Amino acid sequence: MRERIIKGNPDDGPEPVEPEATEGLSSRQPRPHDPVEDKLRPQRLAEVVGQRAVAERLSIALLAARMRGEPLPHILFDGPPGLGKTTFATVLHNELGVELSITSGAALDKKMDVMPYLTNAAEGSILFIDEIHRLPRAVEEFIYPVMEDFRVDVVLGEGMSARTINLPLKKFTIIGATTRSGMLSGPLRERFHMHEHLEFYDREDLATIITVNAEKLRTKISLEAAWELAGRCRGTPRIANARLRWVRDFALARADGVVTPSIARDALDMQEIDAEGLDKQDRRYLDTLIRVFHGGPTGVEALAATMNVAVDTLRDEVEPYLLRREFVVRTPRGRQACALAYRHLGLSEPEPELPISIVDIQRRLFD
Ligand code: ADP
Repeated sequence: MRERIIKGNPDDGPEPVEPEATEGLSSRQPRPHDPVEDKLRPQRLAEVVGQRAVAERLSIALLAARMRGEPLPHILFDGPPGLGKTTFATVLHNELGVELSITSGAALDKKMDVMPYLTNAAEGSILFIDEIHRLPRAVEEFIYPVMEDFRVDVVLGEGMSARTINLPLKKFTIIGATTRSGMLSGPLRERFHMHEHLEFYDREDLATIITVNAEKLRTKISLEAAWELAGRCRGTPRIANARLRWVRDFALARADGVVTPSIARDALDMQEIDAEGLDKQDRRYLDTLIRVFHGGPTGVEALAATMNVAVDTLRDEVEPYLLRREFVVRTPRGRQACALAYRHLGLSEPEPELPISIVDIQRRLFD
């Protein structure tokens, strides 16, 4: 379970309170805690690369909160996994020097699961709820008065003798993160004062992240190699980190530990990551769509069943980048492969179906 409390002093560094489960992962379960990722995570706003507009709006919110001596407004981050939602929450807690508690919508099954987070929240602290779209409706409704008036309504007793007590809470900030903003109910969305959408990163920003993180990992990497790697990590810093770690190991095992462009290419080729940064699963998705479903349109459920992969994995992890790069498009009738997908797999595109002319119809009728 992704559940941690990180104390306020940024110099103390993150302090995991509870170990996290790593077994039996499926796409519906939270990611396991990775200490190296924590090490690579920017701690201050000035260390954040890219997402300039988001960072600028957050710096204004931070300044205003400091000047007014009030907690930050509730903030909702949305965007595909690995783009920096947790990073921004961590940065905000460090900038303010307040406590940060981390949990996940999937872990908050009942009202009583969320209660300790609410009653223990210190003045001005931050509660980060990852995958907030997974909160059950009852828990979601339970936190409405928390977000509006910093109180919880607890019902005591049953039937005629039932009464509601209002429990006042300290003023704190809820930061929600979601990969599926569309699944969030309107009332929950409206209770967040800031909505920030995180976009995929461009190659320059990723090359900067890779260079900075190589230094943190004490790995020598040339600028050209960082550029090569940046073009092959699906616009996603978390993937950039994972691939950098693999390339570093490869450079150690196969060369003198220095990452050059050819070492980077060989290492990624070995993992079957192609020149566009697509991995085996991405190519299988495109291949299934084109060969089995004749390029679509087809529903994501049918694709997932054919590939024997969870629908959520396709929706959250595979499709966003393929859609963004226009390998596929989403139509009202389902997913459809684009010309780029055929070209990437070395397949020829089907001829577009020509409308049947009147002459054709007459010929068919009288043949
Ligand atoms: P999310 O919560 O959106 O799934 P994370 O915030 O956990 O993604 O990001 C994964 C990793 O990517 C972080 O540990 C960090 O190293 C890196 N990262 C993400 N965003 C940035 C950024 N804007 N600048 C530098 N590194 C980043």
